[in-house]
Amino acid sequence: MKPGEGRERLFRRIAGRTDELVALTQDLIRIPTVNPPGDAYTSCAEFIGDRLAGRGFQVTYRRGEGTPGDSDRYPRTNMIARIEGKRPGPCVHFNGHIDVVAAGRGWTMDPFAGAVRDGKVYGRGACDMKGGLAAAIIAVESILEEGVDFPGALEISGTVDEESGGFGGVAFLAKEGFFSRPRVDHVIIPEPLNVDRVCIGHRGVWWAEIETHGRVAHGSMPFLGNCAVRHMGCVLERIEAQLIPRLSQKRTAMPVVPEGARQSTININSIHGGLGEDYDGMPSPLVPDSCRMVIDRRYLIEEDEREVRREIVDILEALKTTRPGFAYGLREVLAFPPTMTDPNGPVVRAISAEIERVLGRPATQVVSPGTYDQKHIVRIGHLEDCIAYGPGILDLAHQPDEYVVIEDMVNAAKVMAAAALTLLAGGGR
Ligand SMILES: [Zn+2]
Repeated sequence: MKPGEGRERLFRRIAGRTDELVALTQDLIRIPTVNPPGDAYTSCAEFIGDRLAGRGFQVTYRRGEGTPGDSDRYPRTNMIARIEGKRPGPCVHFNGHIDVVAAGRGWTMDPFAGAVRDGKVYGRGACDMKGGLAAAIIAVESILEEGVDFPGALEISGTVDEESGGFGGVAFLAKEGFFSRPRVDHVIIPEPLNVDRVCIGHRGVWWAEIETHGRVAHGSMPFLGNCAVRHMGCVLERIEAQLIPRLSQKRTAMPVVPEGARQSTININSIHGGLGEDYDGMPSPLVPDSCRMVIDRRYLIEEDEREVRREIVDILEALKTTRPGFAYGLREVLAFPPTMTDPNGPVVRAISAEIERVLGRPATQVVSPGTYDQKHIVRIGHLEDCIAYGPGILDLAHQPDEYVVIEDMVNAAKVMAAAALTLLAGGGR
């Protein structure tokens, strides 16, 4: 059999399994793995694990014990399935997170029913990323059903907590060696970045909490106190007047999508000031002695974390010298540097070539505005050859009436299957 013929047969098999791909996506959506708190993780992990074990995979479960949110009620259950080829060779790993964000408001249907309408599967997680995970599973199963004699190994993992930082999921597994050589060589994460795009990395993130301090006094005599909320108002004013214009000047060579994210950004995530932990709308006649603000700073590969931090510290220190009674604290909440794999690396080349073959148009390389589990694979697993590629439409992630297009899932499954075979054969170089 010629290689081209083999590919066409594989593609026909995948297309012939469209109904099964839809059913699998629906089954996954119907397990409401909402995070937080991390519901139904074990049911979902075991659902995938049982299916793959029945097809000859060696299935391992690892609980992210002691990681944020892990408890006996909400265990962080991860599933890793592996099947060996007939000869030694590289390993291609497909990693999907099984957690979804809360349904939220605005749905016109049951978010956990998995309704099929007009060639789309609807539901929380359809796009981000149960549709992608289902496509990867069908891709790998189809390779096995075709009886392709491949070297190396294929792996599929279903991991938890991506939506809350991935500590109990990919980060935990990476620390245990599941995302390092020699066990794994190439990783594809079917996150929703659109069926014709290869996502080679993401911007960095730096979350911090700023607190301004003051002194309590009677609200009728504010001059006797020191108002922490007014101090925070000045911090906000400096961010608005100085920092945001400066950030918009910082442009990146990273191909970030959407275009608006091709610069440095800051989001004022939340602000809490005033007295009383359980504010219920009833004011208390007091001058507040504390105000806290969380900022969510996304940065570029051309910047570094010290610079990002210093920009904020400079604003705070300047206020300290110019504004009487100004005192502050700064607490770093979370930080991950930007990451970008080699755009000419094996996995990028293999996936790009198949996108062009399957869709008849060239692949676009993109970088994600927000982070995903690639950071843990690169930083903890020291594995660079990792990308995100999946069928979902990026803009639909986390939205009400989220869906995945069935034709996109079938095409993504073809791309993933054919690219995996290229990589197993040592290609894509
Ligand atoms: Zn996701």
